Amino acid sequence: MEALVAILGTLLIAAGWLWLRDRRRLEGRLTETERAVLELRGRLRESEAWRDAAELAFSAMPIGLVLFDAAGRPALTNRAAEALLGRVGALDALVPLALREAVLATAADRRPRNVELELGAPTRTVRTDVVPAGTDQVLIALRDMTETRRLEAVRRDFVANASHELKTPVASILAAAETLRTVAAEDPAALPRFAEQLEREAVRLSRIVSDLLDLSRLETGGDTERGPVRLEQVAREEVDRARAAAEEAGLALSLEAEPGPAVLGSARDLALMVRNLVDNAIRYTRPGGRVEVRVRPEDGEVVLTVADTGIGIPGRDLDRIFERFYRVDRARSRETGGTGLGLSIVRHVVENHGGAVRVQSELGRGSTFEVRLPALAEGDPTP
Ligand code: ADP
Repeated sequence: MEALVAILGTLLIAAGWLWLRDRRRLEGRLTETERAVLELRGRLRESEAWRDAAELAFSAMPIGLVLFDAAGRPALTNRAAEALLGRVGALDALVPLALREAVLATAADRRPRNVELELGAPTRTVRTDVVPAGTDQVLIALRDMTETRRLEAVRRDFVANASHELKTPVASILAAAETLRTVAAEDPAALPRFAEQLEREAVRLSRIVSDLLDLSRLETGGDTERGPVRLEQVAREEVDRARAAAEEAGLALSLEAEPGPAVLGSARDLALMVRNLVDNAIRYTRPGGRVEVRVRPEDGEVVLTVADTGIGIPGRDLDRIFERFYRVDRARSRETGGTGLGLSIVRHVVENHGGAVRVQSELGRGSTFEVRLPALAEGDPTP
């Protein structure tokens, strides 16, 4: 018995010594930082708060995640995944089929793959990455790309539309230049006519380019120089500027501006907004008509209205006239020097100033555009 105790004691001491030696060797290899990280990880693993935080992050993640185990069961599923796929059950029943096939293929060859899917109603475009996880699991990551794809389509359409709009005047300029060259020798009397055409189209081209530049500036927030602006002052300047055009068009142009609070914004962009509305009112109103501009304070807002007795806008087009390049009557817009971008510019300026724009119109009777901008209250901070 005594001998047994002695043997066991020796063994224990030897094991302890070996364990200590290994530990020391291991510790010797770890840097200070590694040791700190290991210690922290150990502590975090034990802490419930850490588990809660990880769970919360997993479930709140905007990317949908599903982890299938080796038996094809969903070991983990988060909220975003269920929003796109519905309740996720066994892999055998996973729809759409293209996704199930991708998961099965990745489970077999352990290679990542991705599929783009159209899911649900209304349809969402979903990019799905299927990646091998651990030794025998497969992880699906689902990303909703609907908005990204929509923006890509908008950008593509815009480039196509802008190129088309620019091509027309460029083609006319080329044609006029060519005619000028051939006509110059044969019929000098016709020269002014072609020179005028050349000039007109060049002006149109420069107007489109200038509107496009304004629009692109406004789309990224507009003028950064902001301060208190008196809209009635801006309206007065723009109405004065438009007087000659109104007279030429045989219209009565009037302004009624009540003094009121300022708005916080860019004087330059707000002038652009008023100018586009007033120019449109003049361009789409027949001789003998009226254009009335009003600025008044109302319920913590500054309200600008531009009313005309012009041709009006058909009801079905009212929702679309603020879109880029949208025109009710392409020929009329062209004739009067329109670019199709004016109201798009107006909408962006209004949005950049936290306001709203509305239009009321009756075909053959006239239109009223109303812009409401938040008034700057006394004591509001200004940049
Ligand atoms: P455009 O340069 O063609 O005038 P806008 O973006 O300024 O482009 O306006 C879009 C379209 O809305 C115009 O082509 C026109 O059909 C319609 N529109 C705008 N303002 C008026 C108005 N005051 N009266 C009638 N139609 C208007």
